[in-house]
Amino acid sequence: MRRIFISDLLKEKITITGPDAHHLAHVMRSRVGDHIVVADDEGKVGEYVMTAFTDDSVSLELVGYLAENTESPVEIILAQCLPKGDKLEFITQKATELGVNSIIPLTSDNCVVRYDEKKARAKQEKWQKIANEAGKQCGRCLLPKVEPITTLKDWLKKMADADVSLCMCYENEEQIGIKAFMAQQDRQNFAVVIGPEGGFSLDEVAYAKALGIPSVSLGTRILRAETAAIAAVTIIQYEAGDLGGRI
Ligand code: SAM
Repeated sequence: MRRIFISDLLKEKITITGPDAHHLAHVMRSRVGDHIVVADDEGKVGEYVMTAFTDDSVSLELVGYLAENTESPVEIILAQCLPKGDKLEFITQKATELGVNSIIPLTSDNCVVRYDEKKARAKQEKWQKIANEAGKQCGRCLLPKVEPITTLKDWLKKMADADVSLCMCYENEEQIGIKAFMAQQDRQNFAVVIGPEGGFSLDEVAYAKALGIPSVSLGTRILRAETAAIAAVTIIQYEAGDLGGRI
């Protein structure tokens, strides 16, 4: 069944307008009588039947709330230093499927890409659209939030005192691996930082260390940024979340 997300709360009768209405009526060619899954901002999910549509609106009536919850029991923040090309689109899509709750695009010393304000906003909207589409495809109850681009140091400083299990995946870390890091955590919310193709500068590693933010190894091989992002989220989800199968 098709799935749409509304930034409102579910109720008996809903009228969808804008791009979602157009998509349902004209792209997916939904018809009166078709059933659609609707998820709201609080992760509540309902099955609706289409009762009418016009050129720019679709009317839905509640069939029944769904007890499904496809959200992970852990909250994961993925902070990703901007990689080149369209890699962040790929990372956003995969991280959404893997259940992350927010994606923080970061600029850092070795980031090659630099966006002006207008381009940064456009990129954030594009990444959010990708997260929304991936969320629909994989049946999320909540859509991940793609935050505005910020600097690595500003974000690390902000998160250093937050009540979250935060680690930085560092390719030159030789003491602690992510498995050992995860074994020491007893929280249900995690944040992981991944560098760009050029990795973290020594100054950034020292800055994180000075804030008490642990760096962890993902093994002896140097992974591409997109591989590291997916591997780190998968490991967190497997060790603490729900990737080990339906529990
Ligand atoms: N410039 C680095 C080099 O050549 O040594 C490689 C950076 S790697 C392509 C991009 C990011 O992926 C790194 O900054 C790190 O966050 C993560 N990463 C890759 N391999 C890793 C590993 N073995 N352990 C921890 N993090 C890793």
